[in-house]
Amino acid sequence: MPDVARRLDEVRARIARAARACGRRPEEVTLLAVSKGQPPEALAAAHAAGQRRFGESYLQEARAKMEALAALEGLEWHFVGPIQSNKAKAIAARFDWVHSLDRADLAERLARHRPGTLPPLQVCIQVNVSGEPTKRGVAPEGAAALAEAVAALPRLRLRGLMAIPAPERDPARQRAAFAAVRELLEGLRAAGHTGLDTLSMGMSADLEAAVAEGATIVRVGTAVFGPRPPRDARA
Ligand SMILES: *Cc1c(COP(=O)(O)O)cnc(C)c1O
Repeated sequence: MPDVARRLDEVRARIARAARACGRRPEEVTLLAVSKGQPPEALAAAHAAGQRRFGESYLQEARAKMEALAALEGLEWHFVGPIQSNKAKAIAARFDWVHSLDRADLAERLARHRPGTLPPLQVCIQVNVSGEPTKRGVAPEGAAALAEAVAALPRLRLRGLMAIPAPERDPARQRAAFAAVRELLEGLRAAGHTGLDTLSMGMSADLEAAVAEGATIVRVGTAVFGPRPPRDARA
């Protein structure tokens, strides 16, 4: 699948250009390849092209890929989708990162079920920055209280914030939403969460705006792998 290697190169170049354009170093931005809906062969092709971090949104699908790709070295798995409470145990046992933490009871479950044999689970709090009722995430006003709760739990390491702003074509409006997330993170740091170092924001359509506002992880799916097959058409 040489296509994936070519697309990966293009996305890496986009990230590097966006970083340099605002005086950041390209290495400050980590590419998370969001592989939901893609077959294991696509991830293997990305791995052959040097990609190690993969984002998944559905537990069953992710588990099948983890098994299929168990022989590959250095894979890092990030859960980016909505989490039902009854899936917390399996997610805590299998993933390195969770980007979509949005409630205290879920944090408690993840902490309780994170195996002591593994490093702490790296977590980001998902913020509903555009205030869309259909979107997941804690309201910006609730982020500080949730951060307090998460920081007090064992086996979790709070790293920062994740957001999926409402789609906007206008780059200035894209940036405004990402700026709000950055300011929220700065507020948490000023309030004593000095170890927070992660802004997980920016996808295929808006990664440049996210990098300009300080993204440290961009979560990119279609620009890396091409279009996703519709969910109900998947095996
Ligand atoms: C699917 C998905 C992405 C990637 O979206 P693209 O537009 O394909 O780049 C990023 N983040 C989350 C949470 C997703 O579910």
